[in-house]
Amino acid sequence: LVTRTEEIEEIRSKLPAVAAEQRIMEIIHHFDVCVVTGETGSGKTTQVPQFLFEAGYCNNKQMIGITQPRRVAAVSMAQRIGEELNGFAKVGYQIRFDRKVDNSTQIKLMTDGVLIREMSTDLLLTKYSCLIIDEAHERSVNTDILIGLLSRIVIYRRQQNNPLKLIIMSATLRVTDFVDNSKLFRITPQVINIDSRQFTVTNHFSRRTNPDYVDEAITKVKRIHNRLPDGGILVFLTGKEEIERVVEALSEPNTRRTTPAVQFSSKNSCLEDEFMDANVDEEVVNDLDDFKSDEQEDDIEEGVDMTQERSSKKLKVLPLYSLLSTEDQMRVFEKCPKNTRLCVVATNVAETSLTIPNIKYVVDCGRSKQKVFENGVQRFSIKYTSKASADQRSGRAGRTGPGHCYRLYSSAVFERDFPQFMDPEILRMPVEGLVLQMKAMGIDKIDNFPFPTEIPNSSLKDAIRTLQCLLALDSEGKITELGNQMSLFPLAPRHAKMLLIGNQNKCLNLIIGLVSAMSVPNLFNYPSSTSDPDNVKEDEDKKESKLPVIQAQADVLQSLAAIAAYSWTPTSDICVSLSLRYKAMRETEELRKQLCRLVAQILAPDGVSTLQKQLSEPLNIPTPTQISTLMQVVAAAYIDQVAIRQHLVHPSEETQKLSVRQVSRTPYETCSGQVVYIHPSTIMKQAPDLIVYESLLVSSTDKVRMRPLTVVS
Ligand code: ADP
Ligand code: MG
Repeated sequence: LVTRTEEIEEIRSKLPAVAAEQRIMEIIHHFDVCVVTGETGSGKTTQVPQFLFEAGYCNNKQMIGITQPRRVAAVSMAQRIGEELNGFAKVGYQIRFDRKVDNSTQIKLMTDGVLIREMSTDLLLTKYSCLIIDEAHERSVNTDILIGLLSRIVIYRRQQNNPLKLIIMSATLRVTDFVDNSKLFRITPQVINIDSRQFTVTNHFSRRTNPDYVDEAITKVKRIHNRLPDGGILVFLTGKEEIERVVEALSEPNTRRTTPAVQFSSKNSCLEDEFMDANVDEEVVNDLDDFKSDEQEDDIEEGVDMTQERSSKKLKVLPLYSLLSTEDQMRVFEKCPKNTRLCVVATNVAETSLTIPNIKYVVDCGRSKQKVFENGVQRFSIKYTSKASADQRSGRAGRTGPGHCYRLYSSAVFERDFPQFMDPEILRMPVEGLVLQMKAMGIDKIDNFPFPTEIPNSSLKDAIRTLQCLLALDSEGKITELGNQMSLFPLAPRHAKMLLIGNQNKCLNLIIGLVSAMSVPNLFNYPSSTSDPDNVKEDEDKKESKLPVIQAQADVLQSLAAIAAYSWTPTSDICVSLSLRYKAMRETEELRKQLCRLVAQILAPDGVSTLQKQLSEPLNIPTPTQISTLMQVVAAAYIDQVAIRQHLVHPSEETQKLSVRQVSRTPYETCSGQVVYIHPSTIMKQAPDLIVYESLLVSSTDKVRMRPLTVVS
């Protein structure tokens, strides 16, 4: 029997999920699969695992597992559930490279990727008596696959008399893809709605949609802080750069209450003229027609109880985005000192996964950064988010009392341009890694697999072609021995292939280092090929890189230089001095160690520890022979991604005139005849004839850019 602290009991008694405990548990006892929906903050994540624990689901040495799409949620929720259970249950978590679990763990939080990996050693997941798939509305690829796999596992476990309870949790009511999908669940799952007591949130639309929503967000926060009663502020933006800009602007001392309120009155502002020239697009123009119809103009005091004392004195501003270290992300849960107002500036991480306490005001830019693939080309674009996500965002203001949401877009734009829902990720991503993993699990007929939403035919074909090109699948689509070996590594198929080819060469330790560095995104603090090419100026920005150039024709080796430096001095200081991201470097080094262990287990089962030790020593800068081997290994794993200088295929006067020094202006052609350019962050000083690229990226000016790896020598 669990006894909780008074404080926790007090909080729990107000949670809608707790009120629904009996209803939820009855359904779970009687049915193997159910779907629980309820507003963000209603207590799904923190409470349902506790109900299961108290109902005895850990009694047979089995665990309750909960998956999260985000690492920070897995860690913070494990901590919170442990606290609430007051030491009565062993709560642990496991995320990539960090785990607090042991044999005695009873409730385990993990990312969905971790659970998928566990299936390769225990397909029926017999360690678990219940599995909760949380945040299913986000429709990440991993969540979708898990639900597909679990739909079958539940049946096998029932046949074996060791039933598994599957609980799918969603913050939105849109669950038809799971529920009305007889290919997925032959018996329609039970749906339980938690009625939540959401307080009213008043939405204040802007009169027109200002394209510079970052500045507008700053202004809005200052106004709220200077004029409105206590209560936390949560700002939604699209990414790190925007967030840092806002945090910096708001952390200046002049955000104190004593400064005059910002001079900003939208009633007679003349934003129009300024924005017309630079950035007009139809929506802005149409938006102006709509001028008068928006009643809830952003008059900030409107509807707010002004009798309460106005703002507290200080503003504590915290950023929240996934590139931050987990510890830094968790700071949003720290208690805020008296006389201080909390302002969290976040990406959509705060939309549903984390409930930040005491938010009364939401400022929503209405956009999100979306990664889209079309014909093998990746595009990062900032787009309007969906109506469903805008509503989630404003809902964050109504958890502890009535709140206000300031939408930095007009109601006309909202109605007309916001899609109802986001597409599931599986419709937007290349799937070769997924296909390889499924084939390795023995799932051969991928088109028959019960996905909540099916993989588009073209992306399945692309994946199979890539895997065949890597010799991971044979011409009939069956997995090969090489493919099976590749699937043992927690890596993208191309990276796994590099490791396995590297094994035949004399520089395995360097290849492991290189692959680790290539597998972790955003190692560098300065603009690299992951940045929007339009923001990178050739020459100028490259000076910021302080790493030695290993080979001027192989950009990819810069990431090896980074991990080599870090492997000798794994400190945050070295990262600062070399402009590397500490969190990413730590992860790269962890991955490198993990790969050394895996490789040693495969290559030298009898002498694992010796080989592992040898491989994981700090890395030296490669010799010229090693460099050329590394370049060949990279080229072999990207054999289908080679581009040739256009003038070699179609000599023309214009292209002839370009000097080889104008690297990022030199046109290339890919195997499929697409015209592409090298990313301006390249270290190459001359445009090579043949180049191997990692991926294609469309800039906001519509030029297709290659992320260069190496030349073909
Ligand atoms: P849901 O999963 O339905 O969105 P949660 O279970 O995450 O809801 O949250 C329930 C309540 O617990 C919320 O009021 C939230 O503020 C609180 N809470 C969650 N995590 C923490 C934490 N780490 N510290 C303090 N309060 C928390
Ligand atoms: Mg939750």
